[in-house]
Amino acid sequence: MSDNKKHKKISAAPSWLGLSEDRQAFLLLPDRAKIVKRIFDLAIGGMGSYAIAKYLDAQQVPTFTQSSQWDNTTIDYMLRNRATYGEHQPKSFAAGHKKGIPSGPPMPDYYPAVIDKKMFEAAQVARRQNLAHRGRKGTDLASIFGDLCFCAYCGSNVVFHRISNVQVLVCERALDDGGCSRSAWTYKDFETSVLAFLAHPALAERLSGSQRLSLLDLAEEIRKLSTDQIERYAARVNMAILLKQIVAKLVVHSAGATSHPRLSLAQIRKDMAGRCIDVELRDGPLYRCISVA
Ligand SMILES: [Zn+2]
Repeated sequence: MSDNKKHKKISAAPSWLGLSEDRQAFLLLPDRAKIVKRIFDLAIGGMGSYAIAKYLDAQQVPTFTQSSQWDNTTIDYMLRNRATYGEHQPKSFAAGHKKGIPSGPPMPDYYPAVIDKKMFEAAQVARRQNLAHRGRKGTDLASIFGDLCFCAYCGSNVVFHRISNVQVLVCERALDDGGCSRSAWTYKDFETSVLAFLAHPALAERLSGSQRLSLLDLAEEIRKLSTDQIERYAARVNMAILLKQIVAKLVVHSAGATSHPRLSLAQIRKDMAGRCIDVELRDGPLYRCISVA
């Protein structure tokens, strides 16, 4: 084997990996790996790449290059890079293709993985939702619930939406074809209700281990929610991440016990009496029909 062949890995190593001394193996750079994982957490928590860059700068997280600031294209590239979970796509650079064109099947477990494939896929879903709902430059973490909310009547995702400038959560199917309950829940009211339930001291007493710690962290974040924009933003991102660790699912009964399917052109009713939420925690307990605080 020629030296040339041995050294081929150098140029191909992603920025969060180093090389062993004999240059035969990739090494995980733990500090950088942690930052990559954090970026995926943030994306899955609902932050767009502009917002993530802004957030990392505000937290003074060092970049992987000479640059003093994070750039949204770097974040975007990282979030789409399958090397994060270890996959390598061999490329051919023939005929003036600067970026290379895929050549041969992808090779799994080629790099040390920083995240798993499930997390990678979750980030792709979050990116698509982010682009569809808020546009590329959205820096406001509109909902801290990500994809945790489901419709009690049809099982579809309950999504963040605006109805005449009011932020609401509404069944995706009700928006798509009107085939579900024409009812919505004002986002602020929903958030307050769920957080009030989760922050209640009696709940933490029933939990143990990391679940309990996440819940106490969440309560702390709620208590110190600042009015400073960047700080508030960072706190809400942390809340979104903690919520994912605590909650498996929120089942939303936006019209109470019975659904209200009506003509798809009928106006969506907000905050109907009897609305409630089933809260399913990650370690099992299910709390039925938590009503408005
Ligand atoms: Zn529905």
